[in-house]
Amino acid sequence: MKTLEDFNFEDKKALIRVDFNVPLDADFNVADTSRIDAAKPTILKILEDGGSAVLMSHLGRPKGQRNQDMSLKHICNTVSDIIGVQVKFVEDCVGEKVDEAYANLESGEILLLENLRFYDEETSGDSEFAEKLSKYGDVYVNDAFGTAHRAHASTTIVANYFPENKCFGYLLAKEIKAIEKVMQTGEKPVTAILGGAKVSSKITIIENILDKVDHLIIGGGMTYTFIKAQGGKVGDSICEDDKMELALEILNQAKAKGVEIHLPVDVLAADAFDNNAKTQAVAVDAIADGWQGLDAGPATLDNFRDVILKSKTILWNGPVGVFEMESFAKGTIAIGNAIDEATQNGAFSLVGGGDSVAAVKQFGFEDKVSYVSTGGGAMLESLEGKTLPGIAAILG
Ligand code: AMP
Repeated sequence: MKTLEDFNFEDKKALIRVDFNVPLDADFNVADTSRIDAAKPTILKILEDGGSAVLMSHLGRPKGQRNQDMSLKHICNTVSDIIGVQVKFVEDCVGEKVDEAYANLESGEILLLENLRFYDEETSGDSEFAEKLSKYGDVYVNDAFGTAHRAHASTTIVANYFPENKCFGYLLAKEIKAIEKVMQTGEKPVTAILGGAKVSSKITIIENILDKVDHLIIGGGMTYTFIKAQGGKVGDSICEDDKMELALEILNQAKAKGVEIHLPVDVLAADAFDNNAKTQAVAVDAIADGWQGLDAGPATLDNFRDVILKSKTILWNGPVGVFEMESFAKGTIAIGNAIDEATQNGAFSLVGGGDSVAAVKQFGFEDKVSYVSTGGGAMLESLEGKTLPGIAAILG
């Protein structure tokens, strides 16, 4: 696996695919700089070697239109402040203006290209467009995990034009290592905590990780399909009746593979999907009609905590309750606290994909777990066992 460390960028120009798809506020200021912060180490390494950097990214979904609301010019000053170098911006990502700016780029300088998705050729993975982009670097560096699951021109196809001179940036390398640690090389016992709303959206992940983990904790809205399938009463809880057979199959598969499945034993039930609803803790399989389980119950959280504390490798995907409402956030916070404790005791913990990342940020666990993934869809596809095209293009 080639990384930045395999190259010396002295007098070289690096074409870097970054993920600067950042949220902008009403005045076009960057509302959350985490993605720019995350790309900083890669950019600095190249500049410190004595090279220069050409940054390319998409922003929003302009769908081939030159929509100025989605111009990367809005983020230029923020990138300059974060990196500590005044970034030059060019109003296109291919063509004469870019040719000229590229020719004039000197060591220590950064050039930011305009939004790649102003061209449909980016998302269609057009080879000619990718070839044009490839002229803007001696070395291609992919540091955009968030788009690594897309075979777009700048994330995948462009790599073909750098048969020897291509590598992962620090951020992408970190993501790959974190996934490897959970899926392949992690110290046992390995535990996955899967929550979220629906079995149907997590089924491929469950099937893939049954071969990798020792313990599987199932929480959140998925719970009720498993409980009803086993004959429990789930009241008005979210439940996918057409997935009950699949749920039983998963339980059987887990048994055959020696994976211990941990389901809730009690839940915090509510008489409405409302923060101010009446609540009571009840057995998970005895929820009355008119009531729905919206968070894990106290006995469940004790059980989950015990499993988490004896784990050496932990993957967390999906909240165990409706954490967006304060009344039903306690379970998700308790899971975060248990993972924090396990991590302090030496476990490796990865949080990735979907709403668990939002929950981790909201409740301040970001610095307490070993790694929080920067890619939603890309992380989910990795957990499903898929090879991401952006990663394969660097390895190939
Ligand atoms: P996901 O994107 O699949 O991780 O699902 C996250 C969503 O699942 C969050 O918006 C939670 O509010 C929701 N969720 C978690 N537990 C429940 C539950 N018991 N009932 C309904 N929704 C839930």
